[in-house]
Amino acid sequence: MTEAALPSPLLGGVRDAVRATPAYPFTPIDAPIKLDQNESPEDFPAELKRLAAERMLAREWNRYPDLHADTLRHRIAEYEGWDPEGVVVTPGSNVIIKLLTEVGGIGQRVLLSQPNFSVYVLEGQLLGAALTQVPLRPDFGLDVPAMQRELRAGGPGVLYLPQPHAPTGFLDSAADLRAVVEAAGDEWLVVIDEAYHQYSGSDFRTLVRERPNRLSLRTFSKAWGLAGLRLGYALTSPELASNLQKVTSAFNVNALTQAALEVALEHPAYVQERARQTVQERGRVLAALQDLKVLHAHPSQANFFLLRTPDPDRAYRFLLERGLLVRRQDKQPMLQGCLRVSIGTPEQNDRLIQAVLELDRA
Ligand SMILES: *Cc1c(COP(=O)(O)O)cnc(C)c1O
Repeated sequence: MTEAALPSPLLGGVRDAVRATPAYPFTPIDAPIKLDQNESPEDFPAELKRLAAERMLAREWNRYPDLHADTLRHRIAEYEGWDPEGVVVTPGSNVIIKLLTEVGGIGQRVLLSQPNFSVYVLEGQLLGAALTQVPLRPDFGLDVPAMQRELRAGGPGVLYLPQPHAPTGFLDSAADLRAVVEAAGDEWLVVIDEAYHQYSGSDFRTLVRERPNRLSLRTFSKAWGLAGLRLGYALTSPELASNLQKVTSAFNVNALTQAALEVALEHPAYVQERARQTVQERGRVLAALQDLKVLHAHPSQANFFLLRTPDPDRAYRFLLERGLLVRRQDKQPMLQGCLRVSIGTPEQNDRLIQAVLELDRA
């Protein structure tokens, strides 16, 4: 038990669930080659950055922004071919995960596959949801019968389905995904987290559109190269959107972020081109690491992959000594020895390949 989990006589007002939850496990470390957060290795294009700065200067900073970022929501709706009444924006999609847990998880269930993205678990624990984590198959796909059993055992609650999965990069077949989603019926909120869909070429908007309790979660933090601005959004039914909107704090997206994102949505062509380059680099990196002797690079449909090592502590330090910062994932079930590595620029990937080959021989 950590110190924070012990009852403190001075903080009697803090709920037990909050005390018992460990803080989000992230330690920022400076390294020349940052492959630890699945960011785009390239910044927002310089000419768009300039346009965004001009747009910011033209806004009145003394005024509150749009209550629900209406202009931005309409631009997103137009870009995605969605009803604007079904779009919800927040400062990062992590915030929507909190809102979904507030709307459908408090006092109810949260169902996940495991290993998973730690934020789903974190919010579920903080808000006192009954968490169920169903192990993935050995190939990292959804265990469809096991998920169906849990869903039919009864909600209500929230079901999270990342596609592709984090942190494995696995993409389920459309048939498997549908089989799980349909077992949820109307009793569950069904969340398809599509944070990395530009790298997998998958798109589950059609599946989401079929029922009002389904939602696609998307973000500007990855393929758009805008993690620093913090914006994520949900595509869902107007009914679910209006309920999410009730638990959203007023004015939650600031005027400067709104201005910059409007510019990005007016010039979206770069995103597809960047994603194409990353997918090409992912193929090159995984091909170069195909015949490792001791280590193993797992295939992936995202902008990262898992590198399995016999000694993750040593492997992590070996890479860091060569300027490469990656993320440990070896504490999660099924991921013994695994490091998660983001795909970088071609030069960064060359350095990575060289270091991993050297580590494999060492
Ligand atoms: C990176 C990521 C997100 C995006 O989070 P933001 O708060 O929008 O930056 C969402 N889901 C998963 C699984 C991710 O890996």
